[in-house]
Amino acid sequence: MQNLIDYSEKRYYSLDYYLKKIYGEKLYKISLNGGMTCPNRDGTVGNGGCIFCSAGGSGDFAASPSKSIAKQIADGKNLVARKYTGHSYIAYFQAYTNTYAPFEYLEKIFTEAIMEPEIKILSIATRPDCLNEEIIALLARLNQIKPVWIELGLQTIHEKSAAFIRRGYPLPVFENSVSKLRAVGIDIIVHVILYLPDETEEMMLETISYLNHMDIQGIKLQLLHVLENTDLAVYYEKHHFHLPTLDEYVVLLSRCISILRPDIVIHRLTGDGPKDILIEPKWTGNKRLVLNTIQKYLKSRDIRQGKEYLDV
Ligand code: SF4
Repeated sequence: MQNLIDYSEKRYYSLDYYLKKIYGEKLYKISLNGGMTCPNRDGTVGNGGCIFCSAGGSGDFAASPSKSIAKQIADGKNLVARKYTGHSYIAYFQAYTNTYAPFEYLEKIFTEAIMEPEIKILSIATRPDCLNEEIIALLARLNQIKPVWIELGLQTIHEKSAAFIRRGYPLPVFENSVSKLRAVGIDIIVHVILYLPDETEEMMLETISYLNHMDIQGIKLQLLHVLENTDLAVYYEKHHFHLPTLDEYVVLLSRCISILRPDIVIHRLTGDGPKDILIEPKWTGNKRLVLNTIQKYLKSRDIRQGKEYLDV
């Protein structure tokens, strides 16, 4: 299968390539904030949140929740107006858990976003334990208007690591949500964090192999970031666990790309953490350098997505 797929000049199935193929142009993401919190922070599931999660709820670039969704979209467009002349956007509910609110409120804000004429896709980041039947039915309805993507923060399949990061749900909960979302045709993007403390290369690759067998359409790969004012920062100060160099990361990432199912769209290859609160790894702050180094490495070794997919 892998030889039949042309990913353009990239060696992997990038989000840009996917969007250009479907929409004929690049789409810009507008980060929206519905003002929600997270059950892993408010005591419902846990109190401290995931160990790496910043005060912004892993959505540090999202807009202010005090503004209406329409205003946030207008502001988001203005923000990219200098570099983007197109008229197609993705409405991205990013900060905290974006299905963790009363049904009527979710219906209101998601409908408001999806009905904006220049919004082409509605993308919602959430936890798999915050998707009840009523919410899935709402997402299914919205998916009839325009594509709806659900982004699930899995991070790892290993329960020991999941306990360490305080993810707050076991793997079967993820599997159950994937089945229910796919039953109504919703595309799923899974977030994976590489280099969690004590995870070996083999364990990280096991997470990728597991996802190859799941009905998912996209993946975000990122390296663990230590951010200021997180419990991970306190732990890092004490234990100084291993974080990779850029070269090390590129080698591991290339291995992940090589075994990844060729039809899974890669939405992200590196972290996107805010530089002003980034403690380590500092080199991730230079995103252009990271992406260029990955690209060069893939080309020089003739690695492409899915090349080893059938071998694992
Ligand atoms: S589930 Fe998301 S928002 Fe909640 S604590 Fe974890 S990373 Fe933060």
